[in-house]
Amino acid sequence: MRASPILKLFVALLLTGINSRKSDPDASYTSLSSLDVDGRFTFDDVSEAAMDFGHRYHHLPSAVLHPGSVTDVAETVRHVFQLGPGSRLTVAARGHGHSLQGQAQAAGGIVVRMESLRRAQEMRVHAGDEPYVDAPAGALWIDVLKETLRHGLSPKSWTDYLHLTIGGTLSNAGISGQAFRHGPQISNVRRVEVVTGKGEVFNCSPTHNADLFHGVLGGLGQFGIITRATIALEPAPKMVKWIRVLYSDFTIFTEDQEMLISSKKTFDYIEGFVIKNKTGLLNIWRSSFKPQDPVQASRFNSEGRTLYCLEMTKNFDPNDPDMAMQEVKELLSQLRYIPSTLFQSEVSYIEFLERVHVSEVKLRSKGLWEVPHPWLNLLVPRTGIHAFANEVFGKILKDSSNGPILLYPLNKSKWDNRTSAVIPDEEIFYLVAFLSSAPTSSGQDILTQALMQNEKILQFCKKANIQIKQYLPYINTQEEWQTHYGQRWDTFVQRKLSYDPLAILAPGQRIFQKAV
Ligand code: FAD
Repeated sequence: MRASPILKLFVALLLTGINSRKSDPDASYTSLSSLDVDGRFTFDDVSEAAMDFGHRYHHLPSAVLHPGSVTDVAETVRHVFQLGPGSRLTVAARGHGHSLQGQAQAAGGIVVRMESLRRAQEMRVHAGDEPYVDAPAGALWIDVLKETLRHGLSPKSWTDYLHLTIGGTLSNAGISGQAFRHGPQISNVRRVEVVTGKGEVFNCSPTHNADLFHGVLGGLGQFGIITRATIALEPAPKMVKWIRVLYSDFTIFTEDQEMLISSKKTFDYIEGFVIKNKTGLLNIWRSSFKPQDPVQASRFNSEGRTLYCLEMTKNFDPNDPDMAMQEVKELLSQLRYIPSTLFQSEVSYIEFLERVHVSEVKLRSKGLWEVPHPWLNLLVPRTGIHAFANEVFGKILKDSSNGPILLYPLNKSKWDNRTSAVIPDEEIFYLVAFLSSAPTSSGQDILTQALMQNEKILQFCKKANIQIKQYLPYINTQEEWQTHYGQRWDTFVQRKLSYDPLAILAPGQRIFQKAV
């Protein structure tokens, strides 16, 4: 599809922020105090809204809205829209602030604390043949889990960490080891309520306001603020058999992963990670995994090899475990891991899903949670994964001591191509996530080195023509954004033009700049 001349002009205006009418920015934000909101605005104590998990970007807003209702969000956005292009005010929804590079920040604008709505609005669980939960988008996934478990139900698709908001993960995709079966979280949404960049409120589903529905899913907050979402549920598992096995051969590791995600009879969760230059497995594993044979794990020595850990779970009912255990046995017998490296554990479903939170508590107690996180998340097409591994794990990466490196396959057929999420154009692609921490106590070196390593990886992919896509993207130029969206760029721009024509929303993504 070729961009129309009007579309091109619109993009040019947004991307360059052409000066049309300059106004005093102060005048814009002080007008907010005239709005009669159910919640409140704060103008002084706004520094928290300039922080995020990445701990590298800090853009102070002019005001923070703690909404008491969806109307507050709509009226605020409408007010900014009505100020017109002369005002510099922008609006960023902030979930739990777990972005990496200021994506939920708004320099000089308004940050909407979506978590306030979590308190103001209730969560409703509907049991029945096709159960679902209708929840405020500012709710954390852990809240959703706790509420749905009370009804013996649970969402199907997760992120590894549950202290993220519904609106925040749906704006990206929401990926974890269940995505190969159920698709990402955005494939498990039935309805959303959205406030657009004009301050209008819409209820959307695949059949009603469908373009906006698909647009906001994976839409990086560009087309609207999601205020409620209806999420599909399933009967909640009770217990989880949690298994890790090791490989030294990357080809065999990925062949086994791909075989598992393509089989009908398989595990309920499949992930994997890379271990380089490490000894003593117990120190490596996220502290929540406690294998039944810790002595065997502590004795294991990688002998300098790069190892690949395949991680799987099988849900089971403790009152009737036999069939699930038999299936586990059969599945394990098909895998080609290093024989002495089968590590197993049994935990409750909630313990499994809360596994990263266990690490969070530990890291917080050591002052190692609120530190810079120079993460790089890539979606690598299957045809490029071996060249990628050879170069990145063989040459660029020296060790995996700065944080976990996840690597697991996903399947395109479980993603809905009408959403805004961008993935490689191959049926199987890999999530490769370099989740580095760079504590300041260890000096700037770790941060600089991690950033250099990220850059080397991106440069290599470019040079080797591996058609990766960034997940949770951080992209610098308009040309690169266009490349990122590829053929879908025109649709993306068209949606922006329809739902947020003044480019008010989610300025921290740096895709469009408000024209002032
Ligand atoms: P924020 O960071 O606050 O917001 C993210 C973006 O969405 C911003 O642009 C914001 O303006 C916009 N936004 C927020 N709320 C709304 C809304 N209601 N409507 C519209 N736009 C909105 N991701 C995965 O997919 N899988 C994982 O396993 C995973 N694990 C993670 C583990 C940790 C420890 C961390 C820190 C992050 C992880 N993430 C994972 C990434 C996570 O999905 C993103 O950080 C995401 O931004 C969610 O965080 P948040 O709710 O704090 O949203």
